Amino acid sequence: METNWYEGGLRMIEEVTTNAERIQDELLSEILDRNAGTEYLRRFLHGQTDKQLFKKIVPVVAYDDLKPYIDRIANGERSDILLAEPITGFFMSSGTSGGKPKLTPVTAEVAQKWELFYTLYESPVMKRFGDITQAGKRMEFMFARPEIETPSGLTAASVSTSIYKESWFRAMLPKCYTSPVETIFCPEPEQSLYCQLLFGLIQRDEVVLVGSVFASTVLRAIKFLENHWQELCSDIKAGRISHRITDLGCRSGASLIMKPNSQLADLIQNVCNSKSWEGIIRKLWPNANHVRCICTGVMRQYTEELEFYSGGLPLVSAFYASSEAQCGINLEPLCKPADVSYTFLPNLAYFEFLPVKNDHDESIEMRSKNKDDNEPVDLVNVKPGHRYELLVTTSAGLYRYKVGDVLMVTGFHNNAPQFQFVERQNVAISVDQEKTSESDLFKAVTEAKAHLDPLGFVLTEYTSYADTSSAPGHYVLFWELKQKEGNHCKELDPKVMAECCYRVEESFHYTYKIYRKKNIIAPLEIRVVKQGTFDALMDYNVANGASLSQYKRPSCIKSKEALKILDSRVIGKFFSPKSPL
Ligand code: AMP
Repeated sequence: METNWYEGGLRMIEEVTTNAERIQDELLSEILDRNAGTEYLRRFLHGQTDKQLFKKIVPVVAYDDLKPYIDRIANGERSDILLAEPITGFFMSSGTSGGKPKLTPVTAEVAQKWELFYTLYESPVMKRFGDITQAGKRMEFMFARPEIETPSGLTAASVSTSIYKESWFRAMLPKCYTSPVETIFCPEPEQSLYCQLLFGLIQRDEVVLVGSVFASTVLRAIKFLENHWQELCSDIKAGRISHRITDLGCRSGASLIMKPNSQLADLIQNVCNSKSWEGIIRKLWPNANHVRCICTGVMRQYTEELEFYSGGLPLVSAFYASSEAQCGINLEPLCKPADVSYTFLPNLAYFEFLPVKNDHDESIEMRSKNKDDNEPVDLVNVKPGHRYELLVTTSAGLYRYKVGDVLMVTGFHNNAPQFQFVERQNVAISVDQEKTSESDLFKAVTEAKAHLDPLGFVLTEYTSYADTSSAPGHYVLFWELKQKEGNHCKELDPKVMAECCYRVEESFHYTYKIYRKKNIIAPLEIRVVKQGTFDALMDYNVANGASLSQYKRPSCIKSKEALKILDSRVIGKFFSPKSPL
């Protein structure tokens, strides 16, 4: 008899990672046996279920290749054109990192897998911190998005919204989380956040973890708290929720738990009133033992600021997943965000890996010489140190589907590989033939921003834009800066800012530098934007259907509206003074 529920999860992790090859093999057989009769697979396999034939003939595809099938289902055709199991709806990806939201089919089995995944990724964390569900409550910021109805009457929702609606999650909510369901489903993001903070503060002694799915949401909550703590304290003191909250669900949720508590209000006020907010999470929630949110990938840029607020609490990135498939879990919850690897679990989806070379390493001719180097590799055959683009095959109608992420193998747990997240594929910035990836950008910005340090500024957000409105085109970086202490805004030193532009260029790859020298690319520009600009960008994306829980800041701006939001808030423009060496 297990003493803790997560021990079953830990045992399953050992079992599936030990038998990775067999489990992947069986999973693919099952998917093919079940789906060979679909219109999609019949096109290639003519009803056959042979696994080798599948790998030889069925093409590697991207979303646009499957979209015609998905659109047909959304418009009322039978879903068995793509998958055998009846569909219950669609998942809608956030669409904020790589482009437009995508719809993927959901079935009863998919929903069950998310529940299983939750148990599996929680297990290593529970092992480290004890059973959180027994020890106290989680203050996680969660935001459901309204669902969209397709012409055929099926619903499309973000994964997180679908999870918040599941009965197993609802059953856990009152006991394990501080946010009542009404606040999660409140249609006004600001009211929802206000109330989730209020409930988290009222139950502060019970809170054992603070978090959200992604790091950017935790930071957004802390910044919101910086602007609203006085109002929250006066609510707590009076035992009444502010008139700003008009949502009836939130108001009724509050009426059940609020009573006047001036002692708590004074205590929070004292903490929030201090000059520096360093360690504020630890001070406000003294029993929290970690901050839980994904800090890898595009979220890396937030770790420094989050470390400042968390006051030494470990930042735990628990899992790697997408709307298309659950993939990996972090078996070492305490490791630093920069070192996090996700162990792929072979029972979640059938995984293949398309080898990826760093664009700047060698020429295209060299790369395509050896055909085998470009063929997808099975899960158990990936090589440490190598980079791959992830392909998934699922029972829900995705066959050799490009998720759009690049991963690097860091090792193995038993026979299952572990991956570091490298970057989103295809979100590179480019003004000519050169390509600068998300990680190139991250590396260059990290080096350049160090020059702001002596001036007392920190870079809180950035994104990029390829400005080709005049020839030659040039890279534009939008930077949002904040002073380390105090709110009085110092002048930016133009010399230092120009130096930052230069440092970014200097850290870029060889092709960029050559193009700059030959004036194929004009000098890089940094446009500094007002504080709150990236929040406005997030608001814009959320208003246009992105899920706040799954929001990821775009690495490169492509939409005109988003560009307008940024450009209208520019407070300074700086250019690189010379071409990089
Ligand atoms: P969505 O399409 O909204 O489901 O977002 C899924 C995408 O979020 C993935 O394809 C990744 O690009 C990103 N993502 C999810 N989990 C992680 C993680 N642990 N680290 C880095 N990026 C992640």
